[in-house]
Amino acid sequence: MAASKNDSGSNGEHHHDHEHEHEHEHEHDHSTNGTFISPVPLKKKKTIKDLTVGTGTPLQTRAASPLILRAPIDSDGLSWPSIGARNRIDQSPEEANGREVRIANAVKTILKELGEDTDREGLLETPERYARAMLFFTKGYEDNIRDVIKKAVFEEDHDEMVIVRDIEIYSLCEHHLVPFFGKAHIAYIPNKRVLGLSKLARLAEMYARRFQVQERLTKQIAMALSEILRPRGVAVVIEATHMCMVSRGVQKTGSSTTTSCMLGCFREQQKTREEFLTLLGRK
Ligand SMILES: [Zn+2]
Repeated sequence: MAASKNDSGSNGEHHHDHEHEHEHEHEHDHSTNGTFISPVPLKKKKTIKDLTVGTGTPLQTRAASPLILRAPIDSDGLSWPSIGARNRIDQSPEEANGREVRIANAVKTILKELGEDTDREGLLETPERYARAMLFFTKGYEDNIRDVIKKAVFEEDHDEMVIVRDIEIYSLCEHHLVPFFGKAHIAYIPNKRVLGLSKLARLAEMYARRFQVQERLTKQIAMALSEILRPRGVAVVIEATHMCMVSRGVQKTGSSTTTSCMLGCFREQQKTREEFLTLLGRK
């Protein structure tokens, strides 16, 4: 913490609807030493006051409250990019190739250290394949939210709950670099603006294709949607199975983890929240 406070405008207005739904205990230290591009607040809307300058993780999973998180979408349309996202986006074909080769070499080292013969037929092209796979699994850092949303925000006088259930998500646990996957359910109550329905799945995909923890993924989807639409409320629930849990005997196969993030009227009004949970079939 400390360091210079990012000046994100003079309206230090705090949203109380961005409070945490859950505080999760994590066994890992999430601090890194990256630096991030300062966000520029969108329009003159409320912005989330940034108090986290100097810390690396885009969204601290142990932050006391999303109040201290940076704005969901930064000036060039990236949304919580990784520290190297800009380099990846701007790279030339030669640089892209160099990156792939370096990753592949590192993978070769891992295979050797694990006692494998990297020259045997089955493994010959595995390092390159793995490099490409990892670049794909983390491509969400490069997504520009304006491209993702395109022109899919519509003015509409609809003020009833919109809910899309069972959006498949595939992500990577950042603690073990193994997959977690499951279903996301996203709901919001519009305030004169709606988003094309398929874009909700695109939004989930954009944040899932990164190194994640499920809690943060849940929150990022909710906060980005909140930023884009300024709706009355947003609710996101994710149910996922983590390979690092089910395959290591920590928990029995089939166990799943549920996380939720409720903002605005979903947070403040029990009735709204209950309607959502009923529509999800959870009540
Ligand atoms: Zn894990």
